[in-house]
Amino acid sequence: MPENTLAGRLEKLRGELRTAAAAGGWPAPKLIAVSKTHPLEEILPLKALGVTDVGENRVQEIRAKLPGLKENFHIHLIGQLQRNKVRAIIGDVCLIQSLDRWELALEIDRQAQAHGLRMPVLVQLSPAGEPQKGGLPPEEAEDFIRRCGGLPGLEVRGLMAVMPDWRDETALEPLFRQMRTRFDRLREEAPGGAALTELSMGMSGDCLIAARCGATMVRVGSAIFGPRVYPDRPAV
Ligand SMILES: *Cc1c(COP(=O)(O)O)cnc(C)c1O
Repeated sequence: MPENTLAGRLEKLRGELRTAAAAGGWPAPKLIAVSKTHPLEEILPLKALGVTDVGENRVQEIRAKLPGLKENFHIHLIGQLQRNKVRAIIGDVCLIQSLDRWELALEIDRQAQAHGLRMPVLVQLSPAGEPQKGGLPPEEAEDFIRRCGGLPGLEVRGLMAVMPDWRDETALEPLFRQMRTRFDRLREEAPGGAALTELSMGMSGDCLIAARCGATMVRVGSAIFGPRVYPDRPAV
């Protein structure tokens, strides 16, 4: 399978993820194909290739690509979310991966209840303390998840992290390992009754390290679609 086709890149990626996960003694992580900036006609062929889940980071872009996205995939919101946008996507996404502040938790809870649903979320942590990428300080996770247990419209399913863009694997790997350790500890403690099953970490540049360190989900864009074109690619 040639590596310059969508099917070829996907097959190569899946094989590498399986191998990396097995090397760490883990099952292969679920692949979330990050389709942000790509038009529907580039995304839809993924369905026939077995991709079931896509990730998008902008509410406006999700709206623009509905209903095609929703009819064919589970949509994950992976980007920083403004409170006033929650209402626009609450019924269309399967998982909000970027919950990182209390006011946002309250608004998701409010909108979920108004829609008669319980919204699955991941709590985003900031393992390297990079505020521009979003995420709570890791040491606040336990308390935050416990408080979320009091919100009936919210269901905390796990943790998410965006790692720093370091090239140095030996510096990066400990951050992934610490995330897995924290995830295992929180899963055992189940603060507020939360059943934590998902650990979302790893992107195109670092998803193999993530798989080796026990990610249950990886979010991969450019390794599947090819590089993104910024900034003037027309929205669909
Ligand atoms: C864009 C994005 C990704 C995917 O990035 P690639 O490097 O293209 O794989 C993953 N996670 C988040 C939060 C993103 O914004």
